Amino acid sequence: MKNSASIVEDTEENRQICRKYCGICPTCKHNSLEKYQPDVLFCARGASSAPSQKEMNCYCPACEIYTKHSLVIGHFCFKRE
Ligand code: SF4
Ligand code: SF4
Repeated sequence: MKNSASIVEDTEENRQICRKYCGICPTCKHNSLEKYQPDVLFCARGASSAPSQKEMNCYCPACEIYTKHSLVIGHFCFKRE
């Protein structure tokens, strides 16, 4: 309840879930996001530090964390907040 329902925790379990989507998405592969920090779970850990990012398809809407936390839009690897 409250705001905690929308906060994604940075846990190993969540990282494993994220790798099923971010790990195979075109944006991740094109930009080699796995080589930069944060390397996964961008919705919890923030945007990637990778340079020269090119935005391609995002697989976040298929992810169970995305649904569970009622996230919107996706492309968390690019967001600057
Ligand atoms: S946040 Fe979206 S676009 Fe970025 S790596 Fe993950 S699935 Fe791909
Ligand atoms: S919503 Fe996107 S960034 Fe967050 S865990 Fe799922 S695939 Fe990863």
